[in-house]
Amino acid sequence: MSQKPDFMEPCELEIVIRPPLKLASLQAHPERTIVVVNGIPVGGPEVVVMAGPCAVENEDQIMSTARAVKAGGGKILRGGAYKPRTSPYSFQGLKEEGLKLLAQAREETGLPVVTEVMDARHLDLVSRYADILQVGSRNMQNFTLLEEVGNCRMPVVLKRGMSATIEELLQAAEYVMKGGNHQIILCERGIRTFETSTRNTLDLNSVPMLKKHTHLPVIVDPSHGTGHAWMVPALAAAAIAVGADGLLVEVHYKPQEALSDGVQSLTPDNFELMMNALKAVAAAVGRR
Ligand code: PEP
Ligand code: MN
Repeated sequence: MSQKPDFMEPCELEIVIRPPLKLASLQAHPERTIVVVNGIPVGGPEVVVMAGPCAVENEDQIMSTARAVKAGGGKILRGGAYKPRTSPYSFQGLKEEGLKLLAQAREETGLPVVTEVMDARHLDLVSRYADILQVGSRNMQNFTLLEEVGNCRMPVVLKRGMSATIEELLQAAEYVMKGGNHQIILCERGIRTFETSTRNTLDLNSVPMLKKHTHLPVIVDPSHGTGHAWMVPALAAAAIAVGADGLLVEVHYKPQEALSDGVQSLTPDNFELMMNALKAVAAAVGRR
């Protein structure tokens, strides 16, 4: 006698994506994508760490922090010049001046730069300075921006919307790819839940789930994912353990003076300590 199971088989729990992903799915493209940024492969055996301040604030801040990122083993410098802030009265970023300072930091350190593009109207300008465009959480479903970014031919970090499902993130990537830009790095940065002790709930489930459904590289942002600098090393280690291809981490030379996200920013010393500790985690899962 055949019995109906009272639980779902694991395969039935898997997300069924409709309409299907034509370009982002692993089924459509069984070979994993490696996004190469100025010679640095993201999505290969090496876990790539992108680090830097939440926002570019001044020359001393970005240059000192960039040097610390490089010294600690970071491969890509992050820093926002256009900042999406909850309050219109909060620091909004240095805009073009911030982009110029990022270019100066790249010049000195050799680190490529990832920076956010908030608006399609800024795309020309931002792409003149950036090596990787970042589409932030708040813009993950800004379809006009996604289409414009899809017309560019440069790498993109696409961050998961704070209330977006994994499927919605993949469909957002599909928007960019449909325009011909296939150089996308997906970023898990935590989602909003009922929990208030952390800024977001870092959904590390998404890493293996994304890896199962897409060939695109996946990185994790434990800074926005937790909102607490002291939690960042633990969640960074967990992210590598579950298969992340890289990390996006906030580091500030003086976190207590930061104009944004100081509480979740690592000091240069703690960044270096974390980077050393992560080597063993990466080796344990067959990564560098
Ligand atoms: C950021 O990276 O500084 C940022 C604003 O991130 P998110 O879009 O994930 O909030
Ligand atoms: Mn930030």
